[in-house]
Amino acid sequence: MRALLLNNEDGEFTCGVVELGEDALPAGEVLVAVEYSTLNYKDGLAITNTSPVVRSWPMVPGVDLAGTVLNSTQDQYKVGDRVVLNGWDVGEKYWGGLAERARVQADWLTPIPEEFSTYQAAAIGTAGYTAMLCVLALEDHGVTPESGQVLVTGAAGGVGSVAIAILSRLGYDVIASSGRIDTEGDYLRALGAKELIDRSELSGEGGRPLAKVRWAGAIDVAGSHTLANVLAATAPKGCVAACGLAQGMDLETSVAPLILRGVTLVGVDSVHESPARRTLAWSRLASDLDISLLESMVTEIGLEETPQVAADIIDGRVRGRVVVDVGR
Ligand code: NDP
Repeated sequence: MRALLLNNEDGEFTCGVVELGEDALPAGEVLVAVEYSTLNYKDGLAITNTSPVVRSWPMVPGVDLAGTVLNSTQDQYKVGDRVVLNGWDVGEKYWGGLAERARVQADWLTPIPEEFSTYQAAAIGTAGYTAMLCVLALEDHGVTPESGQVLVTGAAGGVGSVAIAILSRLGYDVIASSGRIDTEGDYLRALGAKELIDRSELSGEGGRPLAKVRWAGAIDVAGSHTLANVLAATAPKGCVAACGLAQGMDLETSVAPLILRGVTLVGVDSVHESPARRTLAWSRLASDLDISLLESMVTEIGLEETPQVAADIIDGRVRGRVVVDVGR
């Protein structure tokens, strides 16, 4: 099997495509013939070694995969089942999806809904599944299309693109915040964004604790000052689903939006989400994501191209989703 392998011996980081025998795979319950993995922001951090994402060496990166079961010691999966895996620390602690084979625990897998091809499930990937978890969080906290506008930050990235497509299909009036309106404005409007704002409006330090109300809810991938400013402009009883740190891990804010406007800040952790919630998210993706829009978000690459595109994703140069065909 071909695999992208990261290593870090005596402080020297290496990254490259290698040939391995299947016996190199770690122990596990299900052997999967991986057809596609994808590049998410976290994969970018791991493959470029810019953040301590990888906690065990050597490592096959790739926080997600989609493929077919080759054998299973557990009854819940049989040979030929189509499965997707998102998170559970694969590509960080356990070998991940950027290889032609993966051996994993059965509970980490989710059956691919019949509405999706294996390729489409990969195209959605961890970013798309996380976007759906964020939409579910807004719904759980009473943000409906009638509540008012909803903001999506990091709009041209993976989570942002899928979030816009889902929200607009559900009837929400979406404001997209992006640093690339000049080049990606048409793309964001085609996904369903009604209004575009430059991300510099939100990314500044030292914003007011309570600002003029601009949205009923938000999905934020940026964290840091952006999240503080998003909270400050959220309507009474509104909700912000926070899932990312594209601007930064810090969060300097005040309790004012929470205690004076009843705003809820919900954290979304896709990695350790329960199997039941995963199944719900994937079934909602099947009903609420327009597949033709999904296709407009995808760039496909081969295994050899992953290091370059990983650097691009960290530099904010990638649009939408990147699918990796691990067979080429
Ligand atoms: P992408 O790289 O595809 O998208 C990130 C987007 O964020 C960029 O395209 C850019 O959008 C925007 N951005 C980049 N730099 C900044 C900045 N300095 N300030 C504000 N916005 C910025 O990543 P993903 O969509 O895969 O992931 C987005 C975030 O969500 C990441 O931080 C990732 O780690 C996190 N994540 C978390 C998960 C969880 O379970 N909690 C799961 C999946 C992702 P634009 O050019 O439009 O401005």
